[in-house]
Amino acid sequence: MSLYRSPNFGPRPADTPIDMLVIHYTGMPTAEAALARLCDPAAQVGAHYVIDEDGAVHALIDEAMRAWHAGEAFWRGETDVNGRSVGIELVNPGHEFGYRPFPEAQMAALIALCRDIVARHPIPPANVVGHSDVAPRRKSDPGELFDWPRLAAAGLGRWPVGTAAGRGEGDAAGLLAAVGYETVDLQKTVMAFQRHFRPALIDGILDGETLGRLRMLAGDPDDKG
Ligand SMILES: [Zn+2]
Repeated sequence: MSLYRSPNFGPRPADTPIDMLVIHYTGMPTAEAALARLCDPAAQVGAHYVIDEDGAVHALIDEAMRAWHAGEAFWRGETDVNGRSVGIELVNPGHEFGYRPFPEAQMAALIALCRDIVARHPIPPANVVGHSDVAPRRKSDPGELFDWPRLAAAGLGRWPVGTAAGRGEGDAAGLLAAVGYETVDLQKTVMAFQRHFRPALIDGILDGETLGRLRMLAGDPDDKG
């Protein structure tokens, strides 16, 4: 199936469901460099799948194994994100090497792969997330050019429809935590939220639109939104 295999995985914890899907970008200048790194035992980073910009899907690690893609992470109370997730890397140079839109062929391949994965594992829409969502202090991938609304329209992940009324910031940390975020650094968490759910402006400021979308999603994390 794939010319590439990664040694960067271990066993999954026993009796733990695979109930998360984490999307990344590779953040390297070329696909070849990214695949080489993800298959290098010294790098100690790996992902189950890599999708090239032309839509080619490389299966690097068996889904039954715990791939080392998320690092230190948190989502909806869980800290062993690698233990319960499938990790997908999208080839893209990333913010460091010339961030650019994800091509149509790559997005179509991603949606087909995600649909296949969620059909085989109990992964709710609230647990289809980006690396920046589960590691807001360290990561910004897949970034603000990623088309989360398209995924949500395909039944993958959530997207806020409309905004919930309300004044003032209220308990911003509580709302972010209700969606799933850690809130150790509130400004960075707001930026991660914006990168995913209000990508037009990522400034870490809880303006009315950001807060409205946050309230929509915090209302019921298991709602498709
Ligand atoms: Zn990542």
